[in-house]
This record gives sequence, structure tokens and C-alpha cells, in this order.
Amino acid sequence: MSRFWSDLTHSLQPYVPGEQPSMTNLVKLNTNENPFPPSPKALAAMVAETGDNLRLYPDPTCTALRQTLADYVGLSKEQVFVGNGSDEVLAHAFQALLKQDEPLLFPDITYGFYPVYGDLFGIDYRAVPLADDLTISVADYAGNNGGVILPNPNAPTGCLLTLPQVRELLQANPNRVVVIDEAYIDFGGESAVALVPEFDNLLVVQTLSKSRSLAGLRVGMAFGQAPLIAGLERVKNSFNPYPLSREALAGAIAAVADVDYFDMTRHTIMARREQLSQQLAELGFSMTDSKANFVFVEHPSLRAADIALALRQRGVIVRHLDSHPRTVNRLRISIGTQAECEALVLALKEIV
Ligand SMILES: *Cc1c(COP(=O)(O)O)cnc(C)c1O
Repeated sequence: MSRFWSDLTHSLQPYVPGEQPSMTNLVKLNTNENPFPPSPKALAAMVAETGDNLRLYPDPTCTALRQTLADYVGLSKEQVFVGNGSDEVLAHAFQALLKQDEPLLFPDITYGFYPVYGDLFGIDYRAVPLADDLTISVADYAGNNGGVILPNPNAPTGCLLTLPQVRELLQANPNRVVVIDEAYIDFGGESAVALVPEFDNLLVVQTLSKSRSLAGLRVGMAFGQAPLIAGLERVKNSFNPYPLSREALAGAIAAVADVDYFDMTRHTIMARREQLSQQLAELGFSMTDSKANFVFVEHPSLRAADIALALRQRGVIVRHLDSHPRTVNRLRISIGTQAECEALVLALKEIV
């Protein structure tokens, strides 16, 4: 606290990211990072970009990366926006598109940054309860609102909406922007990017942090019709015209181009998720049907907080999100390397 703080600063309740411990020998399954290294081609491109040209500003329009992404998904570069991680892209979407007279809607159990941005930007919002089985009912997002934002698959549940369900959501809100946050879409979902030509109210946000092993590079993107993208550009150019470094632009372009590596790594993680789910079920855990790179589990006779503590004592860190009473007894566990998953299962066998 300081007497120099503005009233807004006093009022903020900042987002708390998962811990990044300095100990290196931990089994770190708490922030949904990818256990595979980044594409070797992406690393080589970043090394090649690191030299004398760092005296020069990067391209403020990020045209080469936007063109690469546009070609990859079958849109034009005017339908693509990029930013410093999808968190920044989401921040611009809140300011440019979701700050309206009526409240913004998002699920009551979802990505913790949405209410934080709502408060920071002075946006009224309403949390819509998930169904009893922790899935999203799209019918609950019709009616008066200033916009809708939800992750698909949802976080931390991992539950996926199908493309017809996303279409239903868009049709129910023709005069409001619907933001689909696809941070985990590459682990088993169908992207709503295919619906961009059809719906002028759709913005799809993605990231290189999860499925492309580049959380440290900070690259996120959005896909939508040109007027929505132009709105994001206006906010971005009123805030920071150079959100992506030269290394980030070069690495991102090479990572998106390396489709073989992307497919190999994400399919391995999906198969490992199914295997781990099976092993956890054998230990008595129940879980949601996750289509993300994490599982969201509950044990019938042990408290989540106790399991998390016992795991930590054995060098395994998972995420216990205790902010909502309906999920206070659940743990979110990222899919790690095969060895990390085995260490987790071994530790849980001792605990349960
Ligand atoms: C991880 C995550 C993000 C943020 O990703 P960055 O691109 O690393 O900022 C956004 N939304 C959801 C739902 C996430 O899980």
C-alpha cells in the first residue's frame, strides 16, 4: 500500500500465475507448459535473428507473421492480429470490443484473468454458472449482454464445446462480440477459426504458449473479420506499437511452419493424457472429460489441499485452484513428460 497509488490501483485484485519455482529438480505440473522443447527450427530461426539487427525496431505491423498465420488457417492477413502472448491479445479485445453498456458474460469457473481484466478496464461482467457436470450450456449465454468470452476447451475443466455448439452461441448473439479463447484447442478440439468468414461477431484467440512449447516467447494471436481486427490494432497502436521482438517474430513464423513437429508433439500429449487418466481412475480419482493438456481430478476420500501438499513433499507441483466452492476439492494436473507422469502416479500411489 502506498499513498501514491491511484484509487484504481488500490482496488485491483491482480491475477496470480502458477508458481515458477527456482528449484530445478521438481516435477512441475502446475502451469500447463508443454513438456516438449520448442521446434528446433524455431530455435534456429531465433538464433539467426539475434545479431546486429537488434539495433533496429521490429516490424510494427508484424506482417510476415500475420501472413504466415493467415496462410496456415486459410484467411487473409487483415483477419489476423498478433500480440505479446494471448493475455495481451485478450486485454486488447476487452478494451476494443467487450467494453459495452451491458455486462460481459463468462463462465463462473474459467480462466482467472477475465474478471481481472474486467476490473482493470472498468467493464461490468456477470459469471454464468456451469452445469452440474461442469460443462458449459450455450443456451445460458443468450439474452441481453455486452459480449461473451469463454475458453474452448474451458480451463480448468478441459471440457470442450463442439463446433455446432459454438455456432449456436454465435447465432444467439448476433449483435455482440463472442470471443473464443482457444489456448488448448490443439489438444483434441475443433477450432472455430473455420467460422470466421461466416460470423462478423466472432473473435478466436490462440497462443503459441501451450501447443507449440513457446510460453517463454510470449506470442498470441486472434482471428476475426477485418473490422474486428482493425479495432484491436487501434488499441494496440495506442498502447505499444512493438509488442513482439525480432526474435519472437522469427521464432513464431518458424514454429507455425513446422507442422510435423507440432503434430508429433500434440498427438503424443493427447495419448499420454488418456493413459494418465486411466491410471488416475485406477487410483480412485474421478475427472472431467478433458480435451486440453491437463486433467482436472477429484478423489472421493482425500482433500485436494492435502493431496497437493503431499505431492509437493515428494517434489511434484500441481495446481490447486481453491477460488470456487464447487471445484475446491479438485486439482489441475498438466501433462508432463512420460517420466514426470510416472513420478506423479508413483507419488499418488503412496498418498492414496
Ligand atoms: C494459458 C492461457 C492463456 C494465456 O496464454 P499466453 O499466450 O501465454 O498469454 C489464455 N487463456 C487461457 C484459457 C489460458 O489457459
